[in-house]
Amino acid sequence: MVSRVIPVETFDLVIFGGTGDLARRKILPGLFRRFRSGQMPAGSRVIGAARSELDSDGYRQMIFEAIAEFGGDEVHDKKSLDAFLKVLEYVTIDAKGDGGWSELADLVRQDVVQAFYFSVAPSLFGDLAERLHTYGISNDKSRIVVEKPFGRDLASAQALNKTLATHFDESQIYRIDHYLGKETVQNLMAVRFGNVLFEPLWNNQYVDHIQITVAETVSVGGRGAYYDKSGAMRDMVQNHLMQLLCLIAMEPPSHFDADAVRDEKLKVIRALQSVAPHHIVRGQYDADENGPSFREDVENPRSFTESFIAMRCHIANWRWAGVPFYLRTGKRMSARSSEIAVVFKELGHSIFGDEEGNEGRNILAIRLQPNEGMDLQVTIKEPGPGGMRLINVPLDMTFADALGDGAEDVADAYERLIMDVIRGNQTLFMRGDEVEAAWAWTDPLIEGWEARNDVPKLYDPGSAGPGDAMSLLRRDGREWREIKG
Ligand code: NAP
Repeated sequence: MVSRVIPVETFDLVIFGGTGDLARRKILPGLFRRFRSGQMPAGSRVIGAARSELDSDGYRQMIFEAIAEFGGDEVHDKKSLDAFLKVLEYVTIDAKGDGGWSELADLVRQDVVQAFYFSVAPSLFGDLAERLHTYGISNDKSRIVVEKPFGRDLASAQALNKTLATHFDESQIYRIDHYLGKETVQNLMAVRFGNVLFEPLWNNQYVDHIQITVAETVSVGGRGAYYDKSGAMRDMVQNHLMQLLCLIAMEPPSHFDADAVRDEKLKVIRALQSVAPHHIVRGQYDADENGPSFREDVENPRSFTESFIAMRCHIANWRWAGVPFYLRTGKRMSARSSEIAVVFKELGHSIFGDEEGNEGRNILAIRLQPNEGMDLQVTIKEPGPGGMRLINVPLDMTFADALGDGAEDVADAYERLIMDVIRGNQTLFMRGDEVEAAWAWTDPLIEGWEARNDVPKLYDPGSAGPGDAMSLLRRDGREWREIKG
């Protein structure tokens, strides 16, 4: 099955921070894949903007090297790559100064879709927004894309929203969370709302609990200073895990439209109960032969910041009353794996006895990485002449297998989201009130453990986190799913 590629309108995309890590590793290689697939119409342009003194040819060389390093096999398609590099331009600009802005104004067209990607530190967002207006570059149809972190608490997120709102309407602001751009995440909505099968079971009558795991094997690496001020709660839970939770738990929107979807997500966040301290486990990875401890990585021997967090959450509404949502995320864990598992209740009554075995529950597992896909654990009869014996098997749909040739063009999250920006579709972007509501839930939890001087538990690198995280489920008579890479 070959997927359809629907071209977007002609656009000018300006990437502020066009020489940075994100631009080189994700944005530009992703745009090249969209170009090569035919989604980027002729005449569209990508304009890199940063302080580095480069001309457009120098920028093309930089991006050629970036695509060679971070792109996939498509880098060997030299003809397409040459053609793509020709759509790149570069302007030397200082977000805080006046140099380069008139040049940018001359370059950016007013009669095509305009998008400005703020791939810079959030402290520069206000300067960029202001100058885009002062120099008459943006208009009331321009779109701006802003990266995480969107604030570090409610007050800073409100301030950031206020700054952007000075120059741009909410309908022009695209707060990116790349988790929402993943194929599987969108499929979650397709599966829930496009099939008659699941929605009747999607409630506290049939669902025992839900687990959301985002496990990384990497350490904080070179981001130690930032991470020590952030921690897993701010860096992962407040945004990525919260968004996944919303999509799993929200009520069906009346139609698939940005505000209808985001209204329902917002209701979930507002219905999230505060989490009791004994339902939160925070951890820090220890040192091992492969690397230093968290405290060494962040160069702070007294750091109380968490590199791991697990918690049991509850959503106070009719659908989910009594259903625990277990969230966990951490660094230096046993495998790189992101998964949502909907664990259904046991049968009310089984007609099978010990001899046949009773292989347990249905579980719908939605894998975000690796091997994006889903599987549904079902009980069947073990094939063969051995009589009636039950086994539990996965009905597996790995997208790369299921889509065949089409999987080649399963876009990376960033490129998919950028195409949505050009289409003007905000469904997969966080609205300002959603971000603020997420911080309003997060802040008191952080303040709580800070006030208690809570010390994160040490855990072994390559493990599933501290032992207390296991107890969090065990004392409820449940187990975490194995983290499989
Ligand atoms: P980075 O590698 O430090 O790049 C920052 C970019 O901003 C560079 O291109 C830099 O170029 C430019 N810049 C800095 N000061 C500037 C100024 N005064 N005027 C104009 N340009 C300026 O950072 P990054 O990793 O790409 O991250 C960019 C944003 O994305 C950050 O908000 C980050 O939190 C977010 N983010 C990054 C990742 C990731 O994987 N990297 C993931 C999620 C979110 P010059 O020095 O040449 O000016």
